[in-house]
Amino acid sequence: MSARVLIVDDLFPNVKLLETKLGLEYFDTLAAMNGPDAITICEKGLCDLVLLDVMMPGMDGFEVCRRLKNNPVTAHIPVVMVTALDQPSDRLKGLDAGADDFLTKPVDDTALFTRVRSLVRLKAVTDELRQRALATRAFGIGDPLATAAAESGLDSHILLVEDRPGSADRMATALRQHHRVSVEREPFAAMRAAAENEFDLALISLDLEGHDGLRLCSQLRSLDRTRGIPLIMIAETHDRARITRGLDFGVHDYLMRPVDRNELLARVRTQVRRKRYSDVLRGAMQASLQMAVTDVLTGLHNRRYLDNHLGLLFHEGTRNRPLAALILDIDRFKAINDSYGHEAGDEVLRAFADRVRLHTRPIDIVARYGGEEIVVILPDAGMAEARAIAERIRERIEATPFEVLRQTRSLPVTVSIGVAVRAAGDGSPGDVLRRADDALYEAKAAGRNRVVTLAA
Ligand code: GH3
Ligand code: MG
Ligand code: MG
Repeated sequence: MSARVLIVDDLFPNVKLLETKLGLEYFDTLAAMNGPDAITICEKGLCDLVLLDVMMPGMDGFEVCRRLKNNPVTAHIPVVMVTALDQPSDRLKGLDAGADDFLTKPVDDTALFTRVRSLVRLKAVTDELRQRALATRAFGIGDPLATAAAESGLDSHILLVEDRPGSADRMATALRQHHRVSVEREPFAAMRAAAENEFDLALISLDLEGHDGLRLCSQLRSLDRTRGIPLIMIAETHDRARITRGLDFGVHDYLMRPVDRNELLARVRTQVRRKRYSDVLRGAMQASLQMAVTDVLTGLHNRRYLDNHLGLLFHEGTRNRPLAALILDIDRFKAINDSYGHEAGDEVLRAFADRVRLHTRPIDIVARYGGEEIVVILPDAGMAEARAIAERIRERIEATPFEVLRQTRSLPVTVSIGVAVRAAGDGSPGDVLRRADDALYEAKAAGRNRVVTLAA
């Protein structure tokens, strides 16, 4: 996978060296010699990943990282800190600033390419989600990107799979400061726990007694129910090969034994943040999809939804199945608006919609068709059944007056309903709806508050 990597270093030879290495692996590179330039490039969306030198005059790497991670526009870009020495304190400061990973100078090729590839792959997934989430802004569901970027990464539920008692205790104790932790000792129980709970993260030892921890990772990645859980491997230093394989099939990160308490907390937090970031974006997308097909006032489906689904019902292999349509129109609705105001009219509409929904089946489509008109599509219903349902609705509307204006007014409301069923010669759903509309017109002409059916 190709990607644009931004190299940030105040020393030109360092930039050149990384450029050459990455170029040989077909990555595109850009360079910045100071923090502010790096931030500008990221804000313009010109790069997919940042390799960030820690020691720079002016704004140092930690500060650059902090700013990138606190800005909703750039928070999703993976940042790899490049430290001069393998300084545990530097790593911690970097993780606190929100860095996604570390490389130590002189940069080892395998480590560089493994990290870059795995982070770029993750970003590709996030990018897709971001694009769709951006579209949801138009629906006024707030700013999902800002919400997502503000996520703390604390108070999560963690699955720890470790069978060395001392190590399990140490890690669980450290994590329990900020998270809920479930400890499992063997893969089968871990798998079941993962399927039955909503974990935000799993930490998995690669050297379980008699088991390959990497196999558990791969199983968790392949099952639908558990695929979304971020995984961190706990490995021995000599286990480079398995770490690389794990990262290749989608494990997110790893920790080396002996596990440093602070590094553990920081890496867990980063992964939890990343998962919740995606979850928030996914949720916003769901909500926007929902809103695109929902009528705001009544919560019923809107006309777009009706048109799409009716089209599907009509054409998809159900040609010979019955289908009925009702068009309901409130009688003299204009008079309600005129006498009690538009607000009262809206209240009646909402309550009217609720009542119609109450007297239809879940498989029926109930949609707001126009101002005070509702269409109900009854799949598999013939004329007799459709007529009975229409009559029941009409009767339910008439039977109980509508309470409006904080229950200060009780308004009698009636409805006229036109009913039609699909006929052999119908070419489109429009044909059925047209007949239902004609029937409705007849119902109005005949004095309202009635059901009229129209044979094809
Ligand atoms: P009929 O019995 O012939 O159906 O008479 P009607 O007054 O119900 O029919 P008409 O089509 O003349 O008027 C419909 C009214 O519905 C006019 C419009 O102001 C009102 N209306 C349409 N949409 C809304 C809405 O969202 N809220 C409110 N309060 N009124 C609406
Ligand atoms: Mg009306
Ligand atoms: Mg009308």
